Amino acid sequence: MVENVVNEEGDRIRGVDATRNNILAARVISETLKTTLGPMGMDKMLVDRAGGITVTNDGVTILDEMEIEHPAAKMIVEIARTQEKEVGDGTTTAVMLAGKFLENAERLLDKKIHPTIITRGYRWASEKAIEILGELAVEIDSEEELVKIASTAMTGKGVEHLREKFSEMIVEAVKIVGVGTYVNLEDIKIEKQRGKSIEESTLIQGVILDKERLNIDMPSEVHDARILLLEEALEIIGPETEAKISVTDPAQLQKFISQEDEILKKKVETIKGTGANVLFVQRGIDDVVSFYLAKAGIYAVRRVPKTDMQSIAKATGAKIVSKLGEVEVTDLGSASKVFEKLEGDDSMTYITGCKNPKTLTILIRGGTEHVISEVKRAIKDALGDVAATLKDSKVVAGGGAVEIELSLRLKKFAMSLKGRERLAVEEFASSLEFIPITLAENAGMDPIDVLTELKASHDAGGKNVGLNLFNSKVEDTMIKGIIEPLLIKTQAITSASEVAIMILRIDDVIAARKLKGKSDKIGDMGVYD
Ligand code: ADP
Ligand code: MG
Repeated sequence: MVENVVNEEGDRIRGVDATRNNILAARVISETLKTTLGPMGMDKMLVDRAGGITVTNDGVTILDEMEIEHPAAKMIVEIARTQEKEVGDGTTTAVMLAGKFLENAERLLDKKIHPTIITRGYRWASEKAIEILGELAVEIDSEEELVKIASTAMTGKGVEHLREKFSEMIVEAVKIVGVGTYVNLEDIKIEKQRGKSIEESTLIQGVILDKERLNIDMPSEVHDARILLLEEALEIIGPETEAKISVTDPAQLQKFISQEDEILKKKVETIKGTGANVLFVQRGIDDVVSFYLAKAGIYAVRRVPKTDMQSIAKATGAKIVSKLGEVEVTDLGSASKVFEKLEGDDSMTYITGCKNPKTLTILIRGGTEHVISEVKRAIKDALGDVAATLKDSKVVAGGGAVEIELSLRLKKFAMSLKGRERLAVEEFASSLEFIPITLAENAGMDPIDVLTELKASHDAGGKNVGLNLFNSKVEDTMIKGIIEPLLIKTQAITSASEVAIMILRIDDVIAARKLKGKSDKIGDMGVYD
């Protein structure tokens, strides 16, 4: 019998059972995130094995921290990551839609409609949805509207009284860094600092490093900085555990020590020889080296994280040198001023007046790590939204308005279809109502009442009518400035429907003995067309 070809002991699920099991897993993820959607969404407290906690309402963060095992659930997590990477926001929306698409597909399975029909219908619906979204979007042309985008993204994310300030800061940052319609968000570094109040958060041109200079005898301020970035440690490596040095008398020991000293001193001479007056080392720096560096008037920092090294390299035009022996004068970067500043609890290194003026740091200050981290996530979302808007200058109405209009128009489109795919398009359309329903639910409003009112308004031609959660009214959210980038919505709908289709097409889950690598990426999971 064919069945005996593979081991059947619980590591294989097939047919409708496989599909339903996958749908269930996806729904669990979607239901988990649901309560965090929108400005009135609740937070999740994530507790790791070591007892560390994160309080957040950010979709990707929650999913990243949850230990998800189920393969279909992992595919859902992947869309959140893609959404975050591609457009920087809308992750909760994307995951919720995927869950709803699947939940509604199950209703069709119950009616004995074949997955092939469902997936075809979903594909049509998704394509039509993108087309309709394009028609519903409006072009924006002012900075003021970009500020509204940032503000919508941050509503309810722990920066309430400062939303305006942060929104303006974000738009300013994106404008400085942007080249035409392209914004490389990596040029905007976000640094956290505990101790002062959130009000004192600022935007700084340059790079800020959460590190102090190695030695107080080093200058605390260097003008016309010539910056060397070094990967390797400035230490005597070894003697490795195995090697033994036998020293027989004190003189010999002295000689050995001074020999080491000599080697380290030479390293400092090499650094001096390049003309560098600021040094950032990714690894360690020996105390002896630190002493000589201070004597030479060089500002040095050790154990600089790799990402920071890269930011500094980009900002100052320096090249990261892997070995000191390979350093050339042209590897040095420059900045008009490098200095240390004591703020709050600790000192930080500022690199300002950089060669590349398009390097910014948003310094978030705040009382506790939890607060600062959540503000950082809110800012990242908003940065993503503003950058996404700059790409095509198109926005849609938020507060569920665009979803309701889309749903309505897709239902009309469904009527024009003849086959059973029509049912799938209808389910796809209904799934979109999940967004305004949840926004209402999370705000403690009656979702049925809200949905009824929304539908009535849209039927009457109010295509931008959504739920305004500033005043709990159903009204034109576009006019009220609750707006979102078109790109966030198209990406969310596309990836949600893609993953739903992918999951619906799986009819056999086999526990494979060896999956190459251990990546979580969909592409690496062995899903092939
Ligand atoms: P996501 O991860 O999908 O971005 P969010 O928790 O950021 O999830 O919520 C986004 C949703 O909140 C969007 O549908 C957006 O239109 C809605 N929203 C934002 N501000 C408001 C508001 N003031 N009133 C109503 N809805 C809002
Ligand atoms: Mg958001």
